[in-house]
Amino acid sequence: MEDFFNYEDLYKEYEVVIIGAGPAGLTAGIYAGRDNIRTLIVEKNFPGGQTAITDYIENYPGFPDGIRGSELADLMLKQALKFNVQIKYGICKRVEVENNYKYIFLENNIKIKTKALIIASGASPKHLGIPGENNFIGRGVSFCATCDGAFYKNKAVAVIGGGDSALQEGIYLTRFASKVYVIHRRNSLRASKGLQDKALNNPKLEFLWNSEVKKINGETKVESLTLFDKNKKVEYNLKIDGVFIYIGWIAETEPYRDLLTVDEFGFIEADENTKTNIDGIYVAGDIRSKVFRQIVTAIADGASAAKMAEHYIDDFLLKEVEK
Ligand code: NAP
Repeated sequence: MEDFFNYEDLYKEYEVVIIGAGPAGLTAGIYAGRDNIRTLIVEKNFPGGQTAITDYIENYPGFPDGIRGSELADLMLKQALKFNVQIKYGICKRVEVENNYKYIFLENNIKIKTKALIIASGASPKHLGIPGENNFIGRGVSFCATCDGAFYKNKAVAVIGGGDSALQEGIYLTRFASKVYVIHRRNSLRASKGLQDKALNNPKLEFLWNSEVKKINGETKVESLTLFDKNKKVEYNLKIDGVFIYIGWIAETEPYRDLLTVDEFGFIEADENTKTNIDGIYVAGDIRSKVFRQIVTAIADGASAAKMAEHYIDDFLLKEVEK
């Protein structure tokens, strides 16, 4: 991935610019590039997004023995590059629309002109910010039960949070784990009533109410949590083999908020074809307001967004000719 735009790039007009090189962005790139659309992907970290840092993926179709996240991300990147998609480093700060063209303002006063824009910059799970959390990521700390749950067959795990994600993923984990503790900081759940009923009636789930996680402990991998019982005002250790943190998601939608509609959690709203409230702007993957955030749902969005952008560009060119 090239570090910065050269002089020539700044005067180039793209047909589609994609923000984010995770699975959604790379898929949009593969589709657009293959259709001979002049495509640029702008990425602020590294290609592959969360997939690239997921240890092992067992539910991605086509790989019956599973595949390492980094390998899958690399294959998607290669496929996008094969279709002449340009990928550059950059951080999007703002987007403006003028005469139907979209202008993307990056850090360092870089301005890119494009007909269609696909926002696919993902979302990241919120962290607790406690000792041990970062040290043990991939060694007992996980933010994705679908990715890592199967590694905890007949083991004890904890899920942190009291929302839909924590309960849904907690229930999912009972397929593998012998015991799932749901640790919540209050004594009532934020999750929907239906999920609450299901979770509260699941014999493998044990709720630890009014409890704060203070520390994640272990030698080379997670072995226990230090919890604070807010009622009894005591600290104690809970032995577990893994901890799944589901305390919400952060979507960096600040650069788009003047233009696009976001939901109450800050995710960008779009229809099922990824079309936002602005013509020619599409949103794909985890940054889109939706229920399921998986690699396969992200790539489905990416494909839809690229096809929508293609139709938009065709209409755009037709209108230019008619002028
Ligand atoms: P959420 O609804 O924001 O819930 C986050 C939970 O984590 C809350 O219970 C919150 O506690 C707790 N929490 C937040 N910060 C914390 C901290 N620092 N320490 C300890 N606990 C903390 O997030 P979500 O569950 O990921 O759901 C996000 C959105 O996706 C919601 O709209 C949800 O309905 C939707 N979703 C839907 C489904 C479904 O329909 N099946 C599945 C998953 C997600 P408090 O309650 O005390 O604030």
